[in-house]
Amino acid sequence: MNALEVHQIPCLTDNYGYLVHDPVSGETACIDTPDAQAILAALASRGWRLSEIWNTHHHPDHAGGNLAVKQATGCRIVAPAAEAARIAGVDRSVVEGEAVSLGEHRFTVLETPGHTSGHIVYWCEAQRLAFVGDTLFAMGCGRLFEGTPAQMWSSLQKLRRWPEDTLLYCAHEYTQSNARFALSVEPDNAVLQARAAEVDAARRRGEPTVPSRLGDELATNPFLRADVPAFRASLGMAEAAPVEVFARARAGKDAFRG
Ligand SMILES: [Zn+2]
Repeated sequence: MNALEVHQIPCLTDNYGYLVHDPVSGETACIDTPDAQAILAALASRGWRLSEIWNTHHHPDHAGGNLAVKQATGCRIVAPAAEAARIAGVDRSVVEGEAVSLGEHRFTVLETPGHTSGHIVYWCEAQRLAFVGDTLFAMGCGRLFEGTPAQMWSSLQKLRRWPEDTLLYCAHEYTQSNARFALSVEPDNAVLQARAAEVDAARRRGEPTVPSRLGDELATNPFLRADVPAFRASLGMAEAAPVEVFARARAGKDAFRG
């Protein structure tokens, strides 16, 4: 099957909006609406017509531009059923296992509560890509505003099952500070040390560090490593349950100033 085209749009301070386009059908989706004007400008620059907005969760830097984009383009809005009442302009609400599509390309919806209670991600297995909103960041994960550590750990395990060459399009450029935290909890991880250096170099050149490969996240992201012996040992929690290790790491990141 033909490849999808992804256009990444830096928005606000550190958000990324995305357009994903199927050149065969001409259909285009926009993942979240952090900044309506930036999204409309990106559509115009590409000459793409927007078919749908796919929201990941209700936060204003993800759904705040919904109505302006819908009014300007006539697109439909897809959003998580559990948060549809908190998201403007929803035409279709979706739950775990449902699909959205662009032409022949199917994206599976997975529910990943934790950052918010109804957060969802959109996964296209055939194209090895996923839009993960604020669930997973490069070397990080979303803050637990509405969910428990157990919920988020369970959500992240759904993402871990994807093929390692899956590209993860997250919604923020938080990678450099995430790397500093990751190094603080697992300083002897050589893969992490190398990746942190690459991230610093990319940021010095003004380049984005997103998307990232799932395989790289498995090796370096503390929030995917709560059941990895080397990581558990590094936290002095070799005997603890993975969810406790995850909770300790998340609390550590919340308090981290580095
Ligand atoms: Zn959010």
